[in-house]
Amino acid sequence: MLVFEKSRPGRGISALPACDVDIVAIPEKDARESELHLPEMAEVDISRHYTELAKKAHGVNDGFYPLGSCTMKYNPRINEAMANLPGFTQIHPLQPVETVQGCLEVLKETEKALCAIAGMSNMTLQPAAGAHGEFTGLLLIKAYHEANGETQRNKIIVPDSAHGTNPASAVMAGMKVINIDSTPDGLVDVAKLREVCEGNNEIAGLMLTNPNTAGLFDPNIKEITEIVHECGGQCYYDGANLNAIMGWARPGDMGFDCVHINLHKTFSTPHACGGPGAGPVGCKEHLAKFMPGAVIEGEKGNYTLSKAEASLGEMKSFFGNFTVIVKALTYIKMLGKEGIPEASLNAVLNANYMMKKLSEKYDIAFNPAVCMHEFIMDIGRQAKETGITAMDIAKGLLDNDIHPPTMYFPLTVHEALMAEPTETESKETLDNAIEVFKSLYDLAYNDAEVLHNAPVTTPVTRLDEVGAARNPILKYEF
Ligand SMILES: *Cc1c(COP(=O)(O)O)cnc(C)c1O
Repeated sequence: MLVFEKSRPGRGISALPACDVDIVAIPEKDARESELHLPEMAEVDISRHYTELAKKAHGVNDGFYPLGSCTMKYNPRINEAMANLPGFTQIHPLQPVETVQGCLEVLKETEKALCAIAGMSNMTLQPAAGAHGEFTGLLLIKAYHEANGETQRNKIIVPDSAHGTNPASAVMAGMKVINIDSTPDGLVDVAKLREVCEGNNEIAGLMLTNPNTAGLFDPNIKEITEIVHECGGQCYYDGANLNAIMGWARPGDMGFDCVHINLHKTFSTPHACGGPGAGPVGCKEHLAKFMPGAVIEGEKGNYTLSKAEASLGEMKSFFGNFTVIVKALTYIKMLGKEGIPEASLNAVLNANYMMKKLSEKYDIAFNPAVCMHEFIMDIGRQAKETGITAMDIAKGLLDNDIHPPTMYFPLTVHEALMAEPTETESKETLDNAIEVFKSLYDLAYNDAEVLHNAPVTTPVTRLDEVGAARNPILKYEF
């Protein structure tokens, strides 16, 4: 039942004290045209409503969640405790700077830590998500070319393995996308890249994820960034998935000029369902004068705020999603210099452990000797032999209390299941998941019908995917 259907007029409003100031009518031009439908419920019923909804969903606290390219690691409770401290919550961004020195220290420390991890010289914490960071980074690149009088540079190279947000952000930044196909090994086709770049003064730059969405680290990365630089382009690193390399390799050293980092993936702040995230953007010195938002200067206890010389302006109000940043800094400080690379090491170890065990039955896309943080199972052969698709396997996992891997992505693998176990899962959890995956493989050959009908144990069973796509009902009609 929807919250609106549970609403009863007059319920639950007793918590508000009687109004003790004059009531002022809102000017007609600002007034609502239709009635405001807010659900009216007692606190206990609201609490039960959301608890009921939570029981219908599968979160990291319910069970294994190997959703590729999303880094669904466990988010330590201490992050929440820190973010809830009154000093971080009972403040206003317009307070005089002398009164928020502690908060500015949090921002400055986070900037420094992320610069060290990414190999960048400057960092803005304003962007609210990865895609927002991509957009910010591309605007930096655009501003840089414009400042050099090279306004014709409006083409951005994006490999076909890229996350869908990459070409979308490029288009939003007013650029044209040049797609380049991957090699059969799933890597950037260096010869093709050279062909596109050589003597081309319209190249604004390249967007790349490394390791890419197939979990492969591109060994030609230095050559790739050099080719782009030689033709006058800039290199953008999609650092949404830093989980495989933090503390081991830095985008700055790979030759990238700017980068975004998803705090709501690698740095353990909760995500999914559109909750607040953060996609800080780092850059090297030559792009720093274009950075958006407030620039924090000075020393601990005496921080001041200024603007970059040729600032892009504001990418978001004030300082971005501040409490998300507090959580990420808590995570970084808790792990420290030793813990950060160890987390990556274990993320890669867990992915390889699963990949090796599952390769006994499943085909692994690109069949790498080792993967990084994630790997892709290719269900193509099974689909031909049994009629079972990646979707059916995913639905079967739901009946086993496992969240499915990412499906049908990247587009370079047609029946893809992309699994990213992360470092926070125990060997027992991985072993159980491996057993489940293997049993579903056998089920496809022994009793495909059961898989076609899965899931049967979840609050909602097989959905009408086509209907949902063709005739979506996106709002409640009163
Ligand atoms: C998640 C992800 C993004 C987008 O991040 P959002 O915060 O969802 O906007 C971009 N690129 C890659 C590789 C990702 O995994």
